[in-house]
Amino acid sequence: MRDEIRSILRDLPSMDELLQKPWTDRFQEVFGREAVRSTFADVIGEVRSDLIKGRISSIDPGHIESEAMSRLEKYSRKSLRRVINATGVVVHTNLGRSCLGTGVLERVMEASGCYSNLEYDLEEGVRGHRNSHVEWLLTRITGADSALVVNNNAGAVLLCLAALGRGKEVIVSRGELVEIGGSFRIPDIMEFSGALMREVGTTNRTHLSDYLKALTPATGMILKVHPSNFRVVGFQAEVAREELAYLAREKDLIFMEDLGSGVVVDLAEWGLKGEPTVRQCIESGVDIVTFSGDKLLGGPQIGVVVGRSHLLDRIRQFPLLRALRVDKMTLAAFEATLRLYLGKKVDEIPTLRMLSQPLKELERKARNLASGIRRSTDLQAKAVATLDAVGGGAFPATGLNGFGVEVEPPEGVTDGSLLEFLRKAPVPVVASAREGKVIFHVRTMLEGDGKDVIEVLKTLTGRKGSHDREK
Ligand SMILES: *Cc1c(COP(=O)(O)O)cnc(C)c1O
Repeated sequence: MRDEIRSILRDLPSMDELLQKPWTDRFQEVFGREAVRSTFADVIGEVRSDLIKGRISSIDPGHIESEAMSRLEKYSRKSLRRVINATGVVVHTNLGRSCLGTGVLERVMEASGCYSNLEYDLEEGVRGHRNSHVEWLLTRITGADSALVVNNNAGAVLLCLAALGRGKEVIVSRGELVEIGGSFRIPDIMEFSGALMREVGTTNRTHLSDYLKALTPATGMILKVHPSNFRVVGFQAEVAREELAYLAREKDLIFMEDLGSGVVVDLAEWGLKGEPTVRQCIESGVDIVTFSGDKLLGGPQIGVVVGRSHLLDRIRQFPLLRALRVDKMTLAAFEATLRLYLGKKVDEIPTLRMLSQPLKELERKARNLASGIRRSTDLQAKAVATLDAVGGGAFPATGLNGFGVEVEPPEGVTDGSLLEFLRKAPVPVVASAREGKVIFHVRTMLEGDGKDVIEVLKTLTGRKGSHDREK
């Protein structure tokens, strides 16, 4: 048996032979000879181990070449790239959450393509602070005394707990011990920060008396966490923010709230009711509020801490802050986004524009796309009502009425394989499916996306006017 394998292994092409194949030239030019060699070595290693484990019984040299070629082709493609979001989920974490508008992107180009006053005080000619570029704006928008930013909200929560709650007991309701996608869990963050978690109440009901009973001389903080991605309905009770603020003040504790999404303007007029704004939390007496920059705020990935000056000063002294600091591209984008809020130009923020689109306009977009698809392909396409979502762990119980285009997969194609075809297209399209049909939700589709969807569908089958495509 071993001899047999050994003799089969002798059929493996030699590395020199492989590297001399003319098709490898263009890859050797782009990646260098060593990268191509190691790709072949990976494939050969896998074939060898498959053979030894009995998963295959002979060597197909054609397979080694084609597998290596397909890997090298994959490495040649841009990895992080544009995708069309036709899911109707506005703050789609897997698809990059919020898109930035062109005005904001121009500020990013300016701040990152040139030197900047990132940490330089131009008036005094001395070292400045990167946070200073957004601090005033954040205090104006939220009504807080002081503000700072870090890499993301998970970092903001960790930083605040570590800086203010380390070695102390931090009281939190059992109804708020949430897990946010991607392994952010309150108990884990708490442990890592060095704070001692003191859970109170039950999953569905927590009362003021529960907090009172948990107080000890070691208590340092009360934490409230936004139950972002779920809702407890039915027999449910939580303690009002004002009451917790009062308790914290009475007992000389810090009252912190992880608000998650961070709504900074009231979204009620768009049918998104019941979310407190950051300003409302501050006005209710919360000492420290943390939230994300790229969820409902519609900016870049960033974590914001706003609250009382003396507490923010303590956080500024804490060494972890340095490890979570924000890059200049992010700061530029965030500053520009905040300015849109102050200037009342929120319609220039794509996330907010998508959320506030009137149903009539969505219907018109869907009808246009459907007729475009029918005109350019043989597919059955029609505008249909959809249920869209805010996403990003916000408003989990509030569906948004939207519109989409329903496309019937051609004969012999399942909805699943059509979705896969769309995902693997040159401009990948992520859509949804319902009752065997594929749906393109138009709410989250940006200017020009419809045209690209039609191009992709044209390559599927039954293309009309395929002569256009060859151009
Ligand atoms: C989203 C969320 C976080 C994590 O924020 P990131 O900006 O993704 O790091 C933390 N807490 C709550 C309640 C959230 O909703």
